[in-house]
Amino acid sequence: MPLVDFNGILPQARAEGRAVCAFNVVNCETVTAVLQAAEREKQPVICQVFRRLFDTGKAHYVAALVRHLAEQTDLNVALHLDHGQTLKQIKQAIDYGFTSVMFDGSTLPYEENIKQTSVAVKLAHDAGLTIEGEVGHIPYTENDKTPLPTAQEVLEFANETGVDALAAAVGTSHGFYKTAPVIQTDLAKEIGELVKIPLVLHGGSDTPDDKVQQVITSGFAKLNIATEFMAEFLHAVRDEIQTHGENFVPVDLFMDPIVNRISELAGRKIRLASMTQPVH
Ligand SMILES: [Zn+2]
Repeated sequence: MPLVDFNGILPQARAEGRAVCAFNVVNCETVTAVLQAAEREKQPVICQVFRRLFDTGKAHYVAALVRHLAEQTDLNVALHLDHGQTLKQIKQAIDYGFTSVMFDGSTLPYEENIKQTSVAVKLAHDAGLTIEGEVGHIPYTENDKTPLPTAQEVLEFANETGVDALAAAVGTSHGFYKTAPVIQTDLAKEIGELVKIPLVLHGGSDTPDDKVQQVITSGFAKLNIATEFMAEFLHAVRDEIQTHGENFVPVDLFMDPIVNRISELAGRKIRLASMTQPVH
């Protein structure tokens, strides 16, 4: 199938009380693993590419890979720029055939975030892409104590900017946790009752499954998974090297069990987000 944008998958997911998983992909192996998992689970999926890969020139070929492989399937697959911070990255995403972008102005003051995100929304919409914004700031370290947004601020941000999906901080952070996170499920519920566009949960890695599912039922229809997926890839590489020792193995064959292992993890996350996995 040709790639779809967020409007092709997220509003329906939200209406059904489930979420679509968005995995950060970086190469052939990660893209293959994600699409294989989505095919097994018969669920839509988002392949997203972090902004760094735009600056290093890798996003171009990752986009071509996603488009080519998605066209061989019957799946609804969106191709998304993750945490874009400049209009240049958004323009690159448009040129590379992405169907959706994120503009992350979350480190800016609230009013400036609205202003800059609105400019990005026009750029994306004029090119026929959907766009995600971020309100509040989902931190990258546990020392970052940026206050969470109020539900009213999230509503105002959605209305003023016209974004198609909105990442709202509710207590998760990016990366692995050193101490257990305090996920504000009441705030997530309050936001979901006020704001009707699909909401996005960042920092989905390493967050307890029951909390993730509670937040999803509040209207968070996109679940981002980056760190756990990347870490599983690295652990699988380490284990394969230990298995083979000094024996030569062709790289394509070396990669096959690694793809299978990260695809298993992707499948578990897809079941979690699509609510086909029980809360435990
Ligand atoms: Zn994020």
